[in-house]
Amino acid sequence: MVLKRIFRGVIMGPPGSGKGTVSGRITQTFGLKHLSSGDILRANINAKTGKRCATNLHIKELGLLMKSCIDQGQLVPDDIISRLVLAKLRDMDHSSWLLDGFPRTVAQAENLDSMCTLDTVINLDVPFETIKERLTSRWVHLPSGRVYNTDFNPPKIPGLDDVTGEPLSQRDDDTPVTVTRRLKAYENQTQPVLEYYRSKGVLTTFTGTETNKIWPHVHAFLGKKIPHPQQVSGQV
Ligand code: AMP
Repeated sequence: MVLKRIFRGVIMGPPGSGKGTVSGRITQTFGLKHLSSGDILRANINAKTGKRCATNLHIKELGLLMKSCIDQGQLVPDDIISRLVLAKLRDMDHSSWLLDGFPRTVAQAENLDSMCTLDTVINLDVPFETIKERLTSRWVHLPSGRVYNTDFNPPKIPGLDDVTGEPLSQRDDDTPVTVTRRLKAYENQTQPVLEYYRSKGVLTTFTGTETNKIWPHVHAFLGKKIPHPQQVSGQV
């Protein structure tokens, strides 16, 4: 009989680091459940019932609190997000999972530790300059919604729409100043969490400028840590 070994991992990486793509590949390749704290929050905000949830607050009042945090780009309080995420993890007690977006503070990491032992924390380290180039190369023609990318789908005349000749704009989120601010906020927030996991010896950092070049290293690393899905079910 092959005993099922549970795998518990966390993935970290700044916006634009390719974390979404790598998470998708990991969960598909290794048959893990993907749990995103952002998705959990959005699901709770959309919940229309008056029942009490894991935090013992009415879901409706909790939804308003969480929405105002998200809308202002602030973190949801540690105790609320921790209870929501830990309740989900408890439901998945016998599954292998990859956690994405949590923990974002040391207090959250300690809460997670009180419930389980992590096998690994994957940190995607993509130079900020690369991320800025990626995120700031998107330009839009607002009236039509036509999207250009200065790297691989540039307009014929820089800054102008191919069809109308009208000027192109950048989304507020994608301007160099905003992107720099988002990346700095990520760095300030998560640096202590990375230090926390480094000191526990569970952090592995993958550095690179292209997701397709980082992925084979992540794949090889996890391949040694996670039993292949077929081995888990005993049908090698
Ligand atoms: P995400 O989808 O991971 O970018 O999360 C969207 C928003 O949800 C964030 O900007 C935060 O406001 C909130 N959020 C997600 N995860 C956490 C967390 N671990 N701690 C606090 N707030 C969070």
